[in-house]
Amino acid sequence: MSQVTREHFDQDMVPCYAPMAMVPVRGEGCTLWDQAGHAYLDLAGGIAVNCLGHCHPVLVDAIAQQSQRLWHVSNIMTNEPALALAGKLKAHSFADRVFFCNSGAEANEAAFKLARRAAVNLYGPEKSEIIAFKQGFHGRTFFTVSVGGQACYSDGFGPKPQEIRHLPYNDLAAVSAAMSSRTCAVVVELIQGEGGVIPVDLNFLKGLRELCDRHNALLIVDEVQTGVGRTGHFYAYQATGVIPDILTSAKSLGGGFPIAAMLTTESCAKHFTPGTHGSTYGGNPLACAVANAVVDVVSEPSFLAKVQLSGAALVQALNQLNEQYHLFQTVRGQGLLVGAELNQQWQGRAGEIMAAAAQQGLLMLVAGKNVLRFTPPLIITPAEIEQAIGKLARAITELQEKAIA
Ligand SMILES: *Cc1c(COP(=O)(O)O)cnc(C)c1O
Repeated sequence: MSQVTREHFDQDMVPCYAPMAMVPVRGEGCTLWDQAGHAYLDLAGGIAVNCLGHCHPVLVDAIAQQSQRLWHVSNIMTNEPALALAGKLKAHSFADRVFFCNSGAEANEAAFKLARRAAVNLYGPEKSEIIAFKQGFHGRTFFTVSVGGQACYSDGFGPKPQEIRHLPYNDLAAVSAAMSSRTCAVVVELIQGEGGVIPVDLNFLKGLRELCDRHNALLIVDEVQTGVGRTGHFYAYQATGVIPDILTSAKSLGGGFPIAAMLTTESCAKHFTPGTHGSTYGGNPLACAVANAVVDVVSEPSFLAKVQLSGAALVQALNQLNEQYHLFQTVRGQGLLVGAELNQQWQGRAGEIMAAAAQQGLLMLVAGKNVLRFTPPLIITPAEIEQAIGKLARAITELQEKAIA
């Protein structure tokens, strides 16, 4: 394997990604090492996935144990890890019923299909409209990307799934005006992750719940990015007082092993009768064994409390950096999903800053051209946060010196 290099990507892979120049080969905690042995402090965390960092001993142990017992049986049989995990997710949420699949997109696909099916069964085929929000992101299958609010991702693939409406995020009047008896569901992120780390307005969310109740529509919260401890709550909705009808969970749920879940109520779940929906791999024992271990660690109140403290420390460190370098107009987010929006002077340069940071051994993300996004492992320490900000400061200094030269 040591003979492969980054050049092979350009020769062999479908070019739908533009990966970094370095190729990571090993990870531990919040650190990654590349082929040349360079270390990187990882505040991207596999895009909000590696919630316990890289190769966490509890997860290594869970996968090792289960790998010697049972990997996959398909859904013609159930299995112990899946049933145990379903019980835990129910215990840590509003849900009565759980459907397992393998990615965030699949969980949302299941959610949208379930909402449509329930509406058809209860009210007839006219009730099929899904309301979603601009800049929202729900995955890359054709249905989910069409529900997502960025036309640039969904255009150019021929006719789209119909009856999807995109409204401005946090604009309750717009939803109130648009909703009708034909609306079967409203889908919302509690923090728009890909869309710029934009938190939902609490009154907006409460208003959506009321409008859904009034119009017999389902409220779907996409917690693929915010779920499983990311915000310092097990699920972000738990800090809002608003209970959804359907919740989708992925990313952190497997800590790096692919697994996703759709959580729902008894009354919704009953519309997915045998044969209406499915997945070959969904709920396989190997993935569920890892997720069981993730949930056991992350659901501990002391663990969640620490995520809140670490998030506050990261925001504070970014604000301090800002006092010195005047980069951001706002630093926002919740727990360890943090966005820093660039000010006028740095407009459009998020990608450039990310690249300069990587040169300094710091990995992070962007959300569009103007927002730096941080989704570190939830186990990140205060010392690592301090190191990361130091590296970011050096990256900014480099960019400033380059501009002068
Ligand atoms: C990442 C993400 C998805 C898509 O998840 P995949 O596992 O890439 O399919 C869906 N919704 C939100 C909010 C996400 O952040």
